[in-house]
Amino acid sequence: MATILDGKVIADEIRAEVAEKTAARKAAGKRQPGLAAVLVGDDPASHVYVKMKRKACEKAGIQSFYYELPASTPQAELETLVAKLNADPAVHGILVQLPLPKGLDEERVLQAIDIRKDVDGFHPLNIGRLAQKGREPLFLPATPAGVMVLLQRSGVKLEGANAVVLGRSNIVGMPVALLLIEANATVTVCHSRTKNLKEVCASADVLVAAVGRPEMVKRDWIKPGAVVIDVGVNRIDDPTAEKGTRLVGDVAYEEALDVAGAITPVPGGVGPMTIAMLLANTLKAAELADS
Ligand code: NDP
Repeated sequence: MATILDGKVIADEIRAEVAEKTAARKAAGKRQPGLAAVLVGDDPASHVYVKMKRKACEKAGIQSFYYELPASTPQAELETLVAKLNADPAVHGILVQLPLPKGLDEERVLQAIDIRKDVDGFHPLNIGRLAQKGREPLFLPATPAGVMVLLQRSGVKLEGANAVVLGRSNIVGMPVALLLIEANATVTVCHSRTKNLKEVCASADVLVAAVGRPEMVKRDWIKPGAVVIDVGVNRIDDPTAEKGTRLVGDVAYEEALDVAGAITPVPGGVGPMTIAMLLANTLKAAELADS
């Protein structure tokens, strides 16, 4: 039976550490860390995520600023808002919730964010540094950083391990793969054109699933004793659930429990880590602004 890697417990530890350091800043007369969240359009999942992030900020003593814009917002207006936030000393971190509505140029918006305020870690410079040996990014993207901290704080040995990352998105798969390489794992990245996917996954000592396909990773895709990190968040129909739906990951959790050595649940695994890392990044941004 697999050990359950409880992301909520580790995320609570990080949130408590951030709250403590934020309180110490206050006591020392330093500026309160501030995070500005920008939400464009009416994607329901994005609204839920932003609400959770703002609530977590308040709990950690981080000031939260919020900008909700209609989907019809012109590119120039969004970039003007980003410029205003770049110039605002009370704002240490800028979070533009992705995905942006169609018609807006995501890359241009991300590039407009001051790299010292890029707490989501998606600025091309931050990602570029992540891909280069010996070049430290200022901020790591929150979900990939959360995956790594979860592994590290759970005592998973990465050096020399065979790691397989299922998914190659800019937001999750690719940065996770780069971070695993940095941690000296031997990394294989799989995607929709990968052949013998099941066999490749079954060779992993550490398997990170970030495909967005409900319960795709079955029992026989997992090497006995492997560490399985399930990043996926998928809503599926479930007539027995109160709402008629429930959340599942990219891994068939119940069957995986029998074969994996350790596994993250969904919900309660990577999700809480993402928010905790965003708070940690915002604190780091405030510390950077001091210097
Ligand atoms: P994307 O849709 O951007 O990327 C999915 C990746 O999976 C792509 O690289 C795609 O390959 C690959 N893929 C899709 N279908 C298959 C398949 N059948 N076989 C092999 N590979 C496949 O998703 P994201 O990376 O943004 O998100 C992945 C999951 O993580 C989602 O469920 C999302 O909700 C969740 N997520 C969770 C977060 C959290 O905080 N817990 C944060 C962010 C995301 P190709 O490149 O070839 O198209």
